[in-house]
Amino acid sequence: NELGVVSNPFEEDLPSPKLRQWSRHFPLIRDTAKCIECMRCIQICDKVQSLSVWDLVATGGRTRVDVSGNRLIRESDCAICGQCITHCPVGALYERDDVQKVLQALEDPDTVTVVQIAPAVRAAWGEAFGLEPEQATVNRLAGALRAVGFDYVFDTSYSADLTIMEEGSEFLARLGRGELDKYPMFTSCCPGWVRFVKSQYPQLAGQLSTAKSPQQMFGAVVKNWFAEKIGVPPEKICCVSVMPCVAKKDECALPTMKNEVGIPDVDYALTTREIIRLIRSEHVQVQNVLETPFDRLLGDYTGAGVIFGATGGVMEAALRTAYYLVTGYNPRPDSFRQVRESRRADGRAWREAEFEMADSTIRVAVASGLGNARALCEAILKGEVHYHFVEIMACPGGCVGGGGQPIHCDDIER
Ligand code: SF4
Repeated sequence: NELGVVSNPFEEDLPSPKLRQWSRHFPLIRDTAKCIECMRCIQICDKVQSLSVWDLVATGGRTRVDVSGNRLIRESDCAICGQCITHCPVGALYERDDVQKVLQALEDPDTVTVVQIAPAVRAAWGEAFGLEPEQATVNRLAGALRAVGFDYVFDTSYSADLTIMEEGSEFLARLGRGELDKYPMFTSCCPGWVRFVKSQYPQLAGQLSTAKSPQQMFGAVVKNWFAEKIGVPPEKICCVSVMPCVAKKDECALPTMKNEVGIPDVDYALTTREIIRLIRSEHVQVQNVLETPFDRLLGDYTGAGVIFGATGGVMEAALRTAYYLVTGYNPRPDSFRQVRESRRADGRAWREAEFEMADSTIRVAVASGLGNARALCEAILKGEVHYHFVEIMACPGGCVGGGGQPIHCDDIER
């Protein structure tokens, strides 16, 4: 390449081309040279997230071997939530770095670059630059992304609104058809949860909402409607998302997230940590960046999308939309806050609430963290509880505690 590097000795150490592929393309990477075998990754995966994907023995599922070839990860069981990354004290686990690919797109004069910022990113990006909360606004981040060269900067909250309108309408339709009498409809905007339910509880996968996640809805709107509006073919647009999430890298690469000729809705999903590295690599002094609004056309949004970032936010937003669709009136601002604030009942791993709507009593539940999700799924399948609508986020506390957010190790930040 232009730096004169002719070979990578670490790559040559890999036992076979097949395994080399894993280290390059799987969203989650483990570097055994750094690993001190403290087992914190296994603890968070096993005890908190209720997944045991780090194995020393091969299993019946698809498995991948890491660089040293002695430890196996059950890829099919891994939710790619990234919680192991945020709990590794030595940086031996990290997400696949897609910064270079985005920089290449930014340098290409024939490519129009569009970036979307997820709601939870605004709560964390400024920490890495030592900004005070009032300085670390989402509009300053928009300014920083313009400074690194993005042509259009948008907020994913726009498409979170679309997701909510879809999910709210779908919920009412499925409720009316009696499809939720046995099992609830589940939210589908968290790709970690979607991977989890498909691998652990396939019998419930049909209960997932059919709505695409906000990231993917945004990409689809950009590559279709927006491309037409600005007169640029979709293949000339590079759509980048900034997410608090590692699983979003997997989601945007799914075959179902491409159009009929194979153009992906979203080209690259960067974590909050990656966007911080990208801004730093371009030497942007964020303290001096002007706060700028999002671009028009896809720049407007309600407050519903912003609350997606924390557990219960999707449920509250969906219920508000459902209420409006049923009654024709907006509910009072605090009508459904219970789903975000209520205490867990009877020592349960999830929150629950009841509301009167459409002449029926609607029972809902909210859980975050896959260990809690497993407890809830088990209770639903055993018939111990019944709900009509359930929100689940893979990361404890929701996306704001996502596996792609900045990591604090005392005074060291990665
Ligand atoms: Fe990603 Fe949020 Fe789901 Fe965590 S909770 S896996 S950050 S979408």
